[in-house]
Amino acid sequence: MNQNNHYDVIILGAGAAGLMCALIAGQGGKRVLVLEKSNKPGKKILMSGGGRCNFTNLNTSHDNFLSANPHFCKSALSRFTPWHFLDLVNKHHIPYHEKELGQLFCDHSSKDILNMLLDECAEGGVEIKLNVTVADVDVQQQVTITADGDQYISNALVMATGGLSIPKMGGSGFGYELAEQLGLNVLPRRAGLVPFVFTDQHKKLLASLSGVSIPVAVTVKESSNKQSFKHQMLFTHRGLSGPVMLQISSYWQQGNHLQIDLLPDSDGFDLLNQLNPCPQVIFTTAYDEYAIKAFEQNALDYLLKPINEKRFNQALEKALQQPQSVNNSIIDHKIFVKDNDQCWLVDIQKIRYFVSHGNYTQLFFDEHHPMVYRSLNQIEQRLPVNQFFRVNRSHIININFVKHIEAYGQSGLLLTMDDDTEIDVSRRHASHLKQALSL
Ligand SMILES: Cc1cc2nc3c(=O)[nH]c(=O)nc-3n(C[C@H](O)[C@H](O)[C@H](O)COP(=O)(O)OP(=O)(O)OC[C@H]3O[C@@H](n4cnc5c(N)ncnc54)[C@H](O)[C@@H]3O)c2cc1C
Repeated sequence: MNQNNHYDVIILGAGAAGLMCALIAGQGGKRVLVLEKSNKPGKKILMSGGGRCNFTNLNTSHDNFLSANPHFCKSALSRFTPWHFLDLVNKHHIPYHEKELGQLFCDHSSKDILNMLLDECAEGGVEIKLNVTVADVDVQQQVTITADGDQYISNALVMATGGLSIPKMGGSGFGYELAEQLGLNVLPRRAGLVPFVFTDQHKKLLASLSGVSIPVAVTVKESSNKQSFKHQMLFTHRGLSGPVMLQISSYWQQGNHLQIDLLPDSDGFDLLNQLNPCPQVIFTTAYDEYAIKAFEQNALDYLLKPINEKRFNQALEKALQQPQSVNNSIIDHKIFVKDNDQCWLVDIQKIRYFVSHGNYTQLFFDEHHPMVYRSLNQIEQRLPVNQFFRVNRSHIININFVKHIEAYGQSGLLLTMDDDTEIDVSRRHASHLKQALSL
């Protein structure tokens, strides 16, 4: 027998897995041959991480892996940690940076990682043959591989021919088929870490948003533990992608529902609070527990999902009947005020501040303070925005009557008005006030 064709280990596939295995076995003193069907090793490594190879993650743990045998990842990762790989990267002086969440990327190119693996293989005396077509694999006491008319014999065979994805880069079902032939148990396969592609009416809608990336929280409702991820979602011309959609795709199965929360760190109330003036809104939600809060926040109506058509029409009618309160036209002249028997024609500029009392609001001007039957939110919509500011849930002040301003509590402010009334500005409104009045 030709001893030149006799190896300790033959590895099929010169991708990331094959090369890594080869360098460990080679440096461990084994005679190693790698057989690769394509003309170059590590093609997928070159395209990984957008060409900069996200070569490890410092927070890698067995929990990040989906496997029918979770204990395998525990034992593999306890023996070879991200720090071991980083040692290798440092040994080769490859410049890298941390992006986010512990993700390490090459500064220059994925080529650095591929060259590192090839150099390490060379150090271990690994032989790599490219453009090889394997015709037959015979597993007896020893493994005999027939390829391009040659025979290669070895004591051990490693299948590292990759998965089905991206056939152009070498993806094939060869490994699964051979495993089945050899009587190994092969589990059903499905796509993971992939974008969602739409073919129905949603495709057009999503395409119009193509390129927009927003933070979201996504949940597969049917997965056993309601699997959820929070990160960026990217609209593409074909559907939805970005890190969060790639992650959740591994848990999604045909027929499952995806719940996408477009306001993951806040809610509709926070959003409304940031608007100045705060518009009147019709709340539509699947939950009834927010109704009281919604009406406190200027809700015109509150519709529960699934929305009843009759209730929807009623809400719309209500909105249409509110021309004054939803009309945003600004008052900058005299207004008519009536409180019981007393009436005034007040110059709006003379009003120092407004104080909310539920559906009533008290106006403070000169030495008068009448009540009017209007909510503070309704009044807020009609005031000149560069002069009147909402400073907390129950006060709107006229900036021209502020005598003194000082820092108060955690990021809040305390205003002293010209009549010596002290009014605190909540943290949220303080930032809005500072933003509006800053240079
Ligand atoms: C666009 C993209 C970006 C990615 N980015 C990252 C990233 O930043 N970080 C990360 O960790 N992962 C990333 N991945 C995933 C990563 O690239 C793969 O998980 C990894 O390359 C798989 O390595 P592998 O060795 O198992 O398989 P492969 O890389 O597919 O290697 C299998 C090799 O086997 C060869 N082969 C197949 N059949 C035969 C045969 N019959 N005989 C001989 N040879 C054969 C193939 O030609 C190929 O060279 C990315 C993947 C893609 C597609």
